[in-house]
Amino acid sequence: MANHLFDALFAPLAGRERDLLILPDGRRIAGGAFLRLVARMAGALRGLGVGKGDRIAVQVGKSPEALACYGAAAALGAVFLPLNTAYTPDEVGYFLGDATPRVFVCDGAKAGAMGPVAARAGARLVVLNGDGSGELADLAAQAPEVEAVACGPEDLAAILYTSGTTGRSKGAMLTHRNLLSNAEVLVREWRFTAGDVLLHALPIFHTHGLFVASNVALLSGGAMIWLPGFEAGAVLRHLPQATVMMGVPTFYTRLLEETGLTRDLVGHMRLFVSGSAPLLAETHEAWAARTGHRILERYGMTETNMNTSNPYEGERRAGTVGFPLTGVELRILAEGREVGSEEVGMIEVRGPNVFAGYWQMPEKTREELRADGWFITGDLGKRDADGYVHIVGRAKDLVITGGYNVYPKEVELLLDEVPGVAESAVIGVPHPDFGEAVFAVLVAQKGAVLEPGAALAAIAGRLARFKQPKAAVVVEALPRNTMGKVQKNLLRDAYKGWFA
Ligand code: AMP
Repeated sequence: MANHLFDALFAPLAGRERDLLILPDGRRIAGGAFLRLVARMAGALRGLGVGKGDRIAVQVGKSPEALACYGAAAALGAVFLPLNTAYTPDEVGYFLGDATPRVFVCDGAKAGAMGPVAARAGARLVVLNGDGSGELADLAAQAPEVEAVACGPEDLAAILYTSGTTGRSKGAMLTHRNLLSNAEVLVREWRFTAGDVLLHALPIFHTHGLFVASNVALLSGGAMIWLPGFEAGAVLRHLPQATVMMGVPTFYTRLLEETGLTRDLVGHMRLFVSGSAPLLAETHEAWAARTGHRILERYGMTETNMNTSNPYEGERRAGTVGFPLTGVELRILAEGREVGSEEVGMIEVRGPNVFAGYWQMPEKTREELRADGWFITGDLGKRDADGYVHIVGRAKDLVITGGYNVYPKEVELLLDEVPGVAESAVIGVPHPDFGEAVFAVLVAQKGAVLEPGAALAAIAGRLARFKQPKAAVVVEALPRNTMGKVQKNLLRDAYKGWFA
């Protein structure tokens, strides 16, 4: 029976003797063996009552078995619901209550704390440990291999909750078509083949590691070096076996701190991709100088998969996210009309990649997804004269001071150029006169002595007065989430009383 996603990503593994997964302990799992694991995992989940349309929530470490759960969900026509391993029982309780999964797969170490949470949501808890052991693995070992059920392109394949720094986290409903269409275009535009070996050090509870990386490798018939997480030493050890790496910007900044990162080590690599958070132009240049490779930066989000990419062939422009992918429309609006080049506005996208709406939130869906298919991303951006898209930041991070709009990115770019500044985050904090004041949080370069007032003085001549930060602090490091995004909400919270 035809199953839109499964037939493209998993079914072709049948009988394949080539490796699909290369593990850090030296184990290798051939494509055919992995497909049988998927089929038995589907058998085990079916045995637990999972049928088409049921949700399977999964909060586990990254193992081959965890990836097999995704394949099994696709086979059963179930909806895969991965959860960040950092979520606490309270947080998980919200997701389980909202999505009412049939089964909740969790690590044995958390089973005690999660038991009552799963019970409240009516989900059957089953254990899968980070090393691939546990009740679910035991059930799979004895389960029959099941055939994939019929699924059309519009059937739901996954619900991914947005990281939601304000308000409730929303479940983005992704269809088989959303996932497959995006994997297809990325395989083409990034020239993936069966000869590729992807170094996979990203988590698989997020769109980047789960869909961009895994789907592209699966669809192209390549292999993946399946690392449990990012650790610079392990990445350096495995790079010589890889042809492609996908990472968040912090992967690149951390690797640059390693003397072992040399041109020779990565001479055979074909592609480095970055996304999920802005890659500083400085990091792009430092990487090129050290390795000879220009990182290819792309832009996407949970709700849309990938939207834009720098070109595989042609100029990869630092500080930009390139052009819309084939089949993806992108427009930038301000006050209801499309802006001209270099003008900032709200980015909207439309295409087969755009999600089907937020799970059980029809009003939120209507607010952000227009009836004619355009999704209002919440990202501010502009196109430069050559058409490259620049992300200026999230609209909710815009600072409005004395009635004027300040785009944090514009100020951050200048601050980052000041000698001694490694990076910066510009936020708005409450101010008695201006409503909000521009406020800068700076990180000093290693060994540099940075005086906040001097850093502000250094950029004063280059910015209109209202854009100049009214105060600055120097901190050890910016708070980031697992995907490397700066958590501006935490900074706003920390400094909200500064001008009180
Ligand atoms: P998520 O849904 O967690 O993947 O977060 C998506 C958001 O990350 C986007 O809406 C952007 O704000 C940001 N983002 C993703 N890729 C980039 C990029 N290359 N440059 C700047 N921001 C990015």
